[in-house]
Amino acid sequence: MSQLPARVDVAVIGAGLAGLAAARHLHGKSLNVVVLEAQDDVGGRIRTDIVEGFRLDHGFQTLLTSYPELGRQIDTEALDLQKFDPGALVMMRGRSYEVSDPFRAPRTLFSTARAPIGTIADKARIALLRARTLRGDPRELLRGQDLPTVVALRCAGFSQAIIDQFFRPLFGGIQLDPSLTTSRRMFDIIFRCLGAGDAAVPRLGMGALPRQMADRLPGLVHLNTKVASLDGRTVVMSDGRRIECRAVIVASALPAARELVALPERGSRRAGAVYFAADKAPTDSRLVILDGTGKGPVLNAAVMSNVSSTYAPAGKHLVVAALPNVIEGDLEGLARTQLRSWWGPQVDAWRHLRTYRIAHAGVEQRPPFHPKRNIALGNGVFVCGDHRDTGSSQGALFSGRRCGELVAGALA
Ligand SMILES: Cc1cc2nc3c(=O)[nH]c(=O)nc-3n(C[C@H](O)[C@H](O)[C@H](O)COP(=O)(O)OP(=O)(O)OC[C@H]3O[C@@H](n4cnc5c(N)ncnc54)[C@H](O)[C@@H]3O)c2cc1C
Repeated sequence: MSQLPARVDVAVIGAGLAGLAAARHLHGKSLNVVVLEAQDDVGGRIRTDIVEGFRLDHGFQTLLTSYPELGRQIDTEALDLQKFDPGALVMMRGRSYEVSDPFRAPRTLFSTARAPIGTIADKARIALLRARTLRGDPRELLRGQDLPTVVALRCAGFSQAIIDQFFRPLFGGIQLDPSLTTSRRMFDIIFRCLGAGDAAVPRLGMGALPRQMADRLPGLVHLNTKVASLDGRTVVMSDGRRIECRAVIVASALPAARELVALPERGSRRAGAVYFAADKAPTDSRLVILDGTGKGPVLNAAVMSNVSSTYAPAGKHLVVAALPNVIEGDLEGLARTQLRSWWGPQVDAWRHLRTYRIAHAGVEQRPPFHPKRNIALGNGVFVCGDHRDTGSSQGALFSGRRCGELVAGALA
């Protein structure tokens, strides 16, 4: 058990991206900080398990290189980001269709393989969408009329076919929302990010991101240290130990934060992910693979070892199947059945490595969606996390920095 200080300037509860970002800011201001983490490692929802030499991220997730906070807070060069190819591989009617980069070159969309996806009018609308989302200040995208994404797409004139074959598997996968009921504001922001950069993973797995942040806080992060309650500004651990603080930052995911402080409830996005080891990759593509029926339950997949070779031991391949909003039942069986319809009997020879069932992958972000929620709860207690800003790595990093700045100002 690590030795905890009796008194600090700030205790940060949770060593996810938000808590680490807040702690880093405060540490940089020479404040005396401690980070208390219930789990046995840092990262929260972003962790990477090593299983038989395979790197398994906790659910299929990527970083978008255009996230502003990555440039601001992270040494991305040290992460050695491995990029997915822009575009997608759409699986439909037993065939795969490679679509070129619709976010940066909408004119060439779907032309390379003459894929039967979308109409000419859909392609023109994607070009318009791109121009609109890339124009001006991104904060503008978070204002204006809000609608469920699927309604906004229909209002913009997109065909049902392109919604189901492209938008649903891609954005339903990114936002863990196959119904596309998430705010169009979030859709616009992500569309913009995809147009301005690449999807990528750190060479050593997503867990390398929080690891880098924690390494910059030597001796300040205490693992296996669960906070049971707050007694004013005194933090009480589950084993009864106490730390007196000038300020407390609750940086837990929303359901856990609500056990410590009063915050309104919001619904959770759930996520399932199944990992398979394969002797032979089903494709050598570095594209995200989409379910072109839009029906799932696997909405997207990837051969992770094609993107970063360290994800699998030499001579082996790692396939991830993502099942947004599906965490109950035989996920392995569901994934195998669907991937067999894409790639045939080779899938039966794949070895199941692990299934992740994540009950709280993020908060629902239904319209009208307002990020930048209150982070000062009064009496020296603050809160940060992706539920205060946008539900993403970018949102968590931004939220942590925003909170760190506020607390540093309050204690100055
Ligand atoms: C499957 C999946 C896919 C995703 N895909 C993407 C994606 O592609 N792109 C993207 O940008 N984002 C994605 N996200 C979202 C992103 O991972 C999160 O928004 C971000 O990691 C949230 O960070 P956080 O610091 O706010 O919270 P968390 O990471 O949840 O950190 C909170 C920490 O607090 C700790 N804690 C809780 N209670 C206590 C307590 N009482 N005492 C001590 N410690 C406590 C927890 O153990 C945890 O470590 C995805 C998430 C999941 C799960």
